[in-house]
Amino acid sequence: MLPDATRLLQHHFGYDGFRPLQQRVLAPVFEGRDVLAVLPTGGGKSLCYQVPALLAAGPTIVVSPLIALMQDQVARLHRQGIAAVTLGGDLAPGARDAALREMTAGRLPLLYVSPERLRGLAPLIAARGIRIARLAIDEAHCVVEWGHDFRPAYRRIGEARAMLGDPPVTALTGTATPDVREAITRSLRFRAGAATVVGSFDRPNLHFAVRRVSCDDERLARLLAVVRAQDAPAILYGPTRNLVEGIARALLGAGVAAAPYHAGMQAHERRGVLEGFLDDRIRVVTATSAFGMGIDKPDVELVAHWTAPASPEAYYQEAGRAGRDGRPARCLLFAHPRDDAMPRRQLEVTYPRERLVEALWTAPALRQRHAANVLASVDRLAEELRPDRGRVEWGGVRRRRREAERRLAAMARYANARRCRRASLLAWFGEQVRRCGGCDVCG
Ligand SMILES: [Zn+2]
Repeated sequence: MLPDATRLLQHHFGYDGFRPLQQRVLAPVFEGRDVLAVLPTGGGKSLCYQVPALLAAGPTIVVSPLIALMQDQVARLHRQGIAAVTLGGDLAPGARDAALREMTAGRLPLLYVSPERLRGLAPLIAARGIRIARLAIDEAHCVVEWGHDFRPAYRRIGEARAMLGDPPVTALTGTATPDVREAITRSLRFRAGAATVVGSFDRPNLHFAVRRVSCDDERLARLLAVVRAQDAPAILYGPTRNLVEGIARALLGAGVAAAPYHAGMQAHERRGVLEGFLDDRIRVVTATSAFGMGIDKPDVELVAHWTAPASPEAYYQEAGRAGRDGRPARCLLFAHPRDDAMPRRQLEVTYPRERLVEALWTAPALRQRHAANVLASVDRLAEELRPDRGRVEWGGVRRRRREAERRLAAMARYANARRCRRASLLAWFGEQVRRCGGCDVCG
């Protein structure tokens, strides 16, 4: 199958051949087995189901959480001369029936659907006797109920799979710790003989370091020192809008071309900062975590963190914006022993004590004594747990909170332990480091 697949890859997509990691995913696919592929961003995930779909006898259904992403992929497939349809978001009348007709006629190799829509669609496909060749589940970690990206409809994909006659599954994700992998294969009802392919998340050109500081003035002084020492693009991540604005002012005052970026700014202001950064008029962007999607600047030489973010996943993703061009780059975290006080307070807001929440559900008059962000959590929990329907099951919420605490603790260990930083980060993703490319502990 691989030679045929390579020919299609060259013809439609213009690549010479599959990368080694893609080949490791394709081998079990061509054997009809279930596959979980854990591939870092930029690993060429979509080709792992698009190309096999062109060789399969029946249609492949791709389940994806983001409508914009599906539309983007389908538009690209059309440009490459491949028939594909997306049924996500609002549908034109007749769109679904048209897609079903095309599938029945064998003219539609790829159908993209949201997880919510898959449930309604599965019985219709089964009733028409359409044999689905494979289910490809993108962003498969959305099945994890205690995860950040949890989408309830993802938990019903296993059911839909059974309704469709149990076609083999390719599950794809860019972030999966060993426990998340387990949850994915269980929820999607993987069969015996399933394969797991895990790409390396190591970025050998990144140097990781932690600088202990005793106060905020010291953070700023050290940041200024490293920014002045190298005349190259840098990103500083800070926890709040006020802070990143203050840091940008301080850098400007010291003669560094800096600008803040956060979700509280107007869209045109944010665009201006991003453009200034991309064409090197702005050298340092001081940003909240809102500065993420769409930053495609390969020559960032430094990503510094004012304080640690709430999880190793978040840290590795943000720090990983350094050195995309493969040249040496630095990831620097400033750490104070009490840095986890703020994220812990935030946890108390996101998950207020159960007794308080239940009291506020039953006695709304108490609400005026509590802050708006706490009340927002109380209302969100009411929507999720439906106290109006009887006894409330707190298990899922408790588990989410424990997971959040576990991630905070892992970040604190990263900052405090005298252990290879790279080994510490990659261990979180279930990966062992053979050789550290450089950190402040290894040298
Ligand atoms: Zn190291």
